[in-house]
Parts: sequence; structure tokens; C-alpha cells
Amino acid sequence: MQRLGKNLGKYLGETIDVKKVLAGVPIAAQQHGWELEVFFKVDGFDLFALHRACRNSAGRRRIYISAGIHGDEPASPEAALKLLQENRWPDNVELWLCPCLNPVGFTLNTRANKNGIDLNRGYLNPVAAEITAHISWLERQPQFDLTIMLHEDWESLGFYLYEQNPDGRPSYAEKIIEAVEKVCPIDRSEMIEGRPAKGGILRPNIDPSSRPDWPEAFYLISHKTRQSYTVEAPSDFPLEIRVNALVTAVNTVLGVHPLGCSGPDASRGSGAR
Ligand SMILES: [Zn+2]
Repeated sequence: MQRLGKNLGKYLGETIDVKKVLAGVPIAAQQHGWELEVFFKVDGFDLFALHRACRNSAGRRRIYISAGIHGDEPASPEAALKLLQENRWPDNVELWLCPCLNPVGFTLNTRANKNGIDLNRGYLNPVAAEITAHISWLERQPQFDLTIMLHEDWESLGFYLYEQNPDGRPSYAEKIIEAVEKVCPIDRSEMIEGRPAKGGILRPNIDPSSRPDWPEAFYLISHKTRQSYTVEAPSDFPLEIRVNALVTAVNTVLGVHPLGCSGPDASRGSGAR
């Protein structure tokens, strides 16, 4: 699979109609029994947080998924909507989902919000009102067993991920790479974003207290969870491939098997139940 070669200095690929994507969220939420909360409003957009109770508490896992914090990463909210619509969640998983944290950024195709603030650098000392609102929503939620953030990287050669696992719990990193490899190229560079990487996995040893510009992942590992994945789709490949890569990463953590064969359209359509 070849890179498209469109991303010169920034993301210049396909964009999405974010209004249309977000219009699908309450519909799918209602259809599949999620509670939906609007925790903030910005420029006519609702910031949604969704919760799905577990159906069977035996071996319950609490998982939080967030998407769409960078407005030039369209596969992220698309994947969140696709996961909602496919509705293939295991019964013993309780879920929280923020499907799009920066809708205005998508109308501008910019990483930042309309004030030029990178929302994913403001989780220690928030300056953007949407992040203040997001943090106060997070504070009202219980501890999560695991968190997953859906992102894209405009310059990467393939999919990769960051793992934070300070207690050395059983890792999902290799399993995610193995599953995503069937639907999307993996970036196997030895250095990614200036950090050592191995087989598409970065395990940076960063003390959050040493950095003031906290991404969401630092907030979560400091306050809400002990295991966290930031998954990065390569945005110089076709959008459908990247959406599939992010959906596959989440499904691997959930223990949901791929639908049908691994083609880009394989997982479209009917839910598992
Ligand atoms: Zn991002």
C-alpha cells in the first residue's frame, strides 16, 4: 500500500463534514442504549460525552475512549461514530466515549481550536474553555481500567501507538499492532516523533510532573487510569483505511474479533447482535 503523498508539511488529505458525523452520534447512542450528556457548547456544536452501562458485571472492565481533539485528524471522530454504529461491545464492558472534543477544528481542518490552542496540550493548566469543561466532566467519572485516545499523524509511515502501563499490566500493544497490520501499514521506524520506537510501539518514560503542557493522556494516567493507549493512524493513506485501523485497535482491546475479511469495507453494516 502506497502513501498518497498529499501531506506536505501538514494534513492535506480528505476532510469530513463534522456536522454530519456528529449528527450520527445521538442517533446511534439512542438506538443502542447509551446515555448522552452535552458537557459544553462551542460555536453551535455540542461536545458529547456518552456512557454505556455494562450488561453483565462478571469481570467488568471500565474503558474510556476519546476522539477528535485535533481537527486535522478526521479518521478519529469517524472511527468513534463507526464503533458506536457497529455496536459490537462486549457485555461486561462499561464504556465512556467522547466522540469529538474539537469540532470547530474540523471545520477549519486545523489541529488547534479556532483560537489556535492545541487542546491536547492543556490538561495541566487549561486555557481553553472546552478543556476546562472536559476535565470537570472527567472528574465526575469513576476510575477507568483502561483508556484509549484516537489520533492521526500526518507524517508517519504507518500506524503506531503509545502505551502507558506503569504497573506492568498485561499489555495490549503487540496485539493491537498484530491486528491493525492486517488492515493498515505499520510504521516500524526506530524513531517516531523523536522518540525510540519498536515495531510501531512507543513506551516513553516521561514523568508528567516534568512537563507543563499535558496531553489528555498525561491527565488520565495521573488521575483516572493505570493503563492507557494513544493510537495514531497514518493520515497520508486513504481515510477508510485509517478509520479501520483505529476501529481495529479499539476492538482488539475490547476482545472483539474482526468482521469478515480484512478489506476496507469488511466491517461495515450489521452489528454483532
Ligand atoms: Zn492528534
